[in-house]
Amino acid sequence: MLVDSHCHLDRLKLDEREGALDEALNAARARGISAMLCVCISEANKQAVLDIAAKHDDIFASVGVHPSDVSEAVVGVDELKQWAAASKVVALGESGLDYYYTKDSADWQKQSFANHLRAGADLDLPVIVHTREAKQDTLALIREYGSTSRAGVLHCFTEDWAMAEQALELGYYISFSGIVTFKNAEALRDVAKRVPLERLLVETDSPYLAPVPHRGKANEPKYVLEVAQFIADLRGLELQALAEASTENFYRLFDRAAA
Ligand SMILES: [Zn+2]
Ligand SMILES: [Zn+2]
Repeated sequence: MLVDSHCHLDRLKLDEREGALDEALNAARARGISAMLCVCISEANKQAVLDIAAKHDDIFASVGVHPSDVSEAVVGVDELKQWAAASKVVALGESGLDYYYTKDSADWQKQSFANHLRAGADLDLPVIVHTREAKQDTLALIREYGSTSRAGVLHCFTEDWAMAEQALELGYYISFSGIVTFKNAEALRDVAKRVPLERLLVETDSPYLAPVPHRGKANEPKYVLEVAQFIADLRGLELQALAEASTENFYRLFDRAAA
């Protein structure tokens, strides 16, 4: 039992054969991955995400607009709430702030992120947060617009312990991807050791960022096992203990998936 808490199944780098996605899903299932959360990044891929989730009992969906997917209009709170009414949707996102790749659109990103936080608060749904080099603004917006009772997750976490600590204080979960296995990720490994076990999630963020020893290859949900094993080793835990805890965390955070 293990969950890939964040993957982009409609974007996997699969060959064009019919059934290639099913093969990738079955390969993950064969390695004990019992659920996957397929994350939406834009209005353009929303239906593909919802369709994949609708077809499979063990796949859930989110709806939202990625901070780097800048389009002219910011999607409004009411529209996001309509999107979230689709079946299998367990979260808003991914939204957030990315000042590493797209700092020039910071104003657009802030408006969009605020709307996701407001929609999440209104619907009592968690928000999947993408944050890169935007620590203070990310935390400030969560404090201003986020639900006080319903936490979210900082996904594919790459920031420092100071940020993790503040997010944990806000009730947030921290999700680690294959980046934690990369050679130069020493500071991130320190964070992965310190996050309380009951707030830790694992993900692939596939098709990007395959973990060592698959780095550079196309990433798939099956590799969440390598991420989990790596973090278990780092923390001196058995894989099973890490898998059980992160799975429980997943269903506590995304509680619509447990219903
Ligand atoms: Zn992201
Ligand atoms: Zn993502």
